[in-house]
Amino acid sequence: MTAHVKPKALTDYRTRDFRMLIDGVWTEGTGVIERVAPGHGSVVSRYPAGTKADAERAIAAARKAFDDGAWPTMTGAERSNVLLKAADLIAARTDELAFLDAVESGKPISQARGELGGAVDIWRYAAALARDLHGESYNTLGQGTLGVVLREAIGVVSIITPWNFPFLIVSQKLPFALAAGCTTVVKPSELTSGSTLVLGEILIEAGVPAGVVNIVTGTGLEVGAPMTTHPGVDMVSFTGSTAVGRLTMANAAQTLKKVSLELGGKNPQIVFPDANLDEFIDAAVFGAWFNAGECCNAGSRLILHRSIAGEVTERIADLSKKVRVGDPLDPQTQVGAIITPQHLEKIGVYVDNAAKAGASVALGGKALDLGLGQFMGPTILSGVTPDMAVAREEVFGPVLSVLTFETTDEATHIANAIDYGLSAGVWSRDFDTCLTIGRKVRAGTIWMNTFMDGAPELPFGGYRQSGLGRELGRHAVEDYTETKTLNMHMGSRTNWWMPR
Ligand code: NAD
Repeated sequence: MTAHVKPKALTDYRTRDFRMLIDGVWTEGTGVIERVAPGHGSVVSRYPAGTKADAERAIAAARKAFDDGAWPTMTGAERSNVLLKAADLIAARTDELAFLDAVESGKPISQARGELGGAVDIWRYAAALARDLHGESYNTLGQGTLGVVLREAIGVVSIITPWNFPFLIVSQKLPFALAAGCTTVVKPSELTSGSTLVLGEILIEAGVPAGVVNIVTGTGLEVGAPMTTHPGVDMVSFTGSTAVGRLTMANAAQTLKKVSLELGGKNPQIVFPDANLDEFIDAAVFGAWFNAGECCNAGSRLILHRSIAGEVTERIADLSKKVRVGDPLDPQTQVGAIITPQHLEKIGVYVDNAAKAGASVALGGKALDLGLGQFMGPTILSGVTPDMAVAREEVFGPVLSVLTFETTDEATHIANAIDYGLSAGVWSRDFDTCLTIGRKVRAGTIWMNTFMDGAPELPFGGYRQSGLGRELGRHAVEDYTETKTLNMHMGSRTNWWMPR
């Protein structure tokens, strides 16, 4: 049995009606998308069902704002001030934004508040980078030549985001694109558009000119796809599944747009017998159950040294039973609801298939009936082998697969023998062991004796099918730029044509 918090019905909540933002104007759609709260079972939000025509109008507005507008030519200091004001306004509306993310995505409210704090920090960091964006100069090319390398905003950027961290992920993209001087069309997930639309209000109040940020709601096929093919778009920044990421890249290839892709993960935590197991047990529970496992960074594969596997699995199961699962709006809840009934079903199929393939269900394994919404408690599968689907594919739910190893080489081999390479953890008190694993595992982030820590200063992204490019870090803003070389000559040139 795990600890449950039964959801309370949202009887006093009035469904919120949103409009989308195109060229500075709040716009209705021709249809409506209703969002049923995954933790409460009632409709909490209605967004416009945008169409291809809406996406095209938004792209045209962003194009005009880039080609003729003031935003790209403002000083870095001016753009920075707008981003700082936006950060203050986001902080001031934290309760409202966190509430929307919690009810629309099913994540726990205290976690949603934490994500808002992290997002504010990112907007402030991007504001600092807006003043520091610069190119290079070469005064070493001879007396007659000076080389200057400019960084110019790349142009119109399509930003497409998923449902699992609605406000945090748009905050990993939009402030950096704005810092560089780009204009944007943003499409949030059709399941969790509320907080991104509130961000639109915030950006207008902060002084972002009309057309610089357009927010179009709707499905991936109707709105997202045209944002990846339209010739008026210069770059696509996408976070979501590897399957749609692949499609996005193929779509963008028709007009050779730059693409940045943050995709799925199947992240291992490799644990050696000399690790501080008390610290690790907590990190394992956090890594697997945070955001109900609906997290690209989830530590969903444990690769344990065979000598400690039994004890460690038992201790993780014991602690997992104390994790509070249920009402996203209860401040004590640690694991909220599963995003949709269909997704819950898909998670169940992974567990059933793993059991059929020979894995043992050491904890959980079934959906929880808490009266309202859809939930699943921590589920631990032991005896998982590297060839099983549950060890290779992203389940995106609270399902932890336990694998074992004997030698360091075997551990790295298991870690690398899948298509993903987003992040990994290694646990050992031996510095050599941590560094060896750190160098050999092919993933964008390696945590050593910790898991899922982050900071705006540290780049984030994946190897192989986990993505392309990096977000955050001091180069994040450069990702939204083109490089232009100014090759300047002084004095007389050495002529090409010479008299015979
Ligand atoms: P998804 O790929 O289904 O959707 C992501 C976004 O793409 C949504 O806005 C969706 O409407 C849109 N979309 C769908 N089809 C499209 C199309 N044909 N053209 C353009 N856009 C389209 O992903 P999801 O289910 O919303 O999110 C979960 C996935 O996101 C997981 O795989 C997870 O690992 C990944 N993710 C990755 C990171 C990261 O930083 N690496 C972070 C969070 C989530």
